Amino acid sequence: MRALVADDDVTSRRILEAILTKWGLEPTVVADGLAAEAVLMEEDAPPLVLLDWNMPGLEGPEVCRRLRRRETSSPPYVVLLTSRGEKSDIVRGLDAGANDYIAKPYDLGELRARIGVGLRMLELQADLARVRDELAFQATHDVLTGLPNRRAALEALEREVSRAAREKGALSLGICDLDHFKNVNDTWGHPAGDAVLVAFAKVVRGCLRPYDILGRYGGEEFLLVAPGHRPTAGGGVFERVRRAVAQTPVATAGGAISVTVSIGVANLRAGGTSDALLSAADAALYRAKDEGRNRVCYAPEEEAR
Ligand SMILES: [Mg+2]
Repeated sequence: MRALVADDDVTSRRILEAILTKWGLEPTVVADGLAAEAVLMEEDAPPLVLLDWNMPGLEGPEVCRRLRRRETSSPPYVVLLTSRGEKSDIVRGLDAGANDYIAKPYDLGELRARIGVGLRMLELQADLARVRDELAFQATHDVLTGLPNRRAALEALEREVSRAAREKGALSLGICDLDHFKNVNDTWGHPAGDAVLVAFAKVVRGCLRPYDILGRYGGEEFLLVAPGHRPTAGGGVFERVRRAVAQTPVATAGGAISVTVSIGVANLRAGGTSDALLSAADAALYRAKDEGRNRVCYAPEEEAR
């Protein structure tokens, strides 16, 4: 693990560098507060920091304060080193955001023990961050397809509607519904139905531009948010999706299953809301189903207002 040592005293610096290296850490060593701050601002900055209190440029507590002002999910563990032994100094150092404090001249056993505490804290913090990221992913993604789930897809739609309004850009919303999906489940069984949904997500992803967003709306319904999309007769991302799905049978244990998709599309109008888009796209989807499925239908302009 990387560690930062900032101390203006050359002897102290060398000793700390040697000790930390001996303990299996990789120390970066600097001689003043500004240099310490610069290292700590780097991406992938050292997670363990030993800061001398009295240094030219910036003093240890000030480096600490600046560090703590930054928003990060993985703050470094900071130990202040100082010969100031007064209680009020200790309080000041901790108030500045230091995690711990050790008085010079330090006892090696104590230093080692305190660094050990820091390493355990950092490990705990990393574990928590991992769990939090995992939970955040689970809360926003569909387990089966790995796509954004309904809530995340609706949030993305809301965000893109706001952005399009702000930037006066185009935006299309497609609701994609697999045709006769119930038949797939009834004829081939639910595992095959799941395989179809997973394959559908994969095929559609292959048709998207980097900024298009596909999410699972529910069951066999998917939302496709296409920012900057302007409908063109017979073209565009939605037609591309329809064609790709129709041309890609899904291989399952029971054999290849051909599926098609119907898509209802609505384009954002000036002053339009995501709710208006959703209901206009939904109405267009009904028409696509009505007119024989395996097709893309566009909502009339006035509906999406
Ligand atoms: Mg000093």
